[in-house]
Amino acid sequence: MIDVPLHPLEPGATIGILGGGQLGRMLSVAAARLGFRCHIFEPGANPPAGHVAEQVTTANYDDDEALRRFASDVDVITFEFENIPTAALDILQDLRPIRPGREALRISQDRLVEKSFLQGLGLKTAPFADITDLASLTGALDQIGTPAIVKTRRMGYDGKGQIRIDHADEAAKAIDELAGTPAILEGFIQFSHEVSVIAARSASGDVACFDPGENVHRNGILHTTTVPARLGPAQRTDAILLAANILNALDYVGVLGVELFVTPNGLIVNEIAPRVHNSGHWTQQGCVVDQFEQHIRAVAGWPLGDGQRYADVVMENLIGDDVERIPDLAKDTSTALHLYGKTDTKPGRKMGHFNRVTRRS
Ligand code: AMP
Repeated sequence: MIDVPLHPLEPGATIGILGGGQLGRMLSVAAARLGFRCHIFEPGANPPAGHVAEQVTTANYDDDEALRRFASDVDVITFEFENIPTAALDILQDLRPIRPGREALRISQDRLVEKSFLQGLGLKTAPFADITDLASLTGALDQIGTPAIVKTRRMGYDGKGQIRIDHADEAAKAIDELAGTPAILEGFIQFSHEVSVIAARSASGDVACFDPGENVHRNGILHTTTVPARLGPAQRTDAILLAANILNALDYVGVLGVELFVTPNGLIVNEIAPRVHNSGHWTQQGCVVDQFEQHIRAVAGWPLGDGQRYADVVMENLIGDDVERIPDLAKDTSTALHLYGKTDTKPGRKMGHFNRVTRRS
């Protein structure tokens, strides 16, 4: 494995980004502002990040030659999604530093490994159990009770790969639906609301957390993030300390999202995302340095910027047909629009978002 470079990258250096969606696009814009070039690696045609990055490689993750050429053109590699095939990372890590590192990916790619890691740090999670067949699911339901949620161990996002179980007699149906996909059972948490902390750690180990945001989902997809979140001072401190705990344990470099359930018994960690996060988009209008610049700074070996919140903000996603609201939103002077350059509107597809500044401090 290549050692992490000790010197900060100079403007003009090239940052390689695996994945060309909207997160890669906004990372590329932030990188360009700091004088970096970006090279996107993305299997799909016409990626949103390709409109703003200097270079794009269109190739699959099993194209070893394309991966090698991509690595030879960049100074450091980062990513905008966590499900990068391990074999591709094996090739890339011998050629260039990957930030954040493999360990964060290994842990966050698998819900069972992730939950065990979080509990190992002394953090609270939903009760969970490994599910391999009907007997293990029945046993887990006995222990954890209902309601509960079966979640696939891998490749779950935006509520995908989840089956809610309200009665133990639904177990056989859930096992049929899984069709052999490895999964866990999670106890259902009675939370009052959901918050997330977007946290950053630099190559030299400094940590900076953005103020927690409060998240509302619709149909399993993030709908709004509001800052400040409804949290007492002790809960706010707890949220930030636990995020820092996770970053330090992983020797992490870059931005990480931590999703939390707020309950009367404290904060429960739902999941971590080793990348910039949809619930951190509010930082674009709420902080001097937003999550995208913070991530690029960390990956480039620069000091972190000032992520203190100076405004109250509501971020709302524009999903599918919400694009029809764009002309009206454009007339609203308190609203900053962020559109992803996607031409195909599909139900559930994230087309853009907007940040409405509700109060300046
Ligand atoms: P996830 O894909 O794990 O982020 O789950 C998507 C959404 O489902 C979360 O944001 C919660 O609203 C809900 N959810 C997930 N896990 C649980 C749980 N153990 N208890 C209650 N709600 C959950």
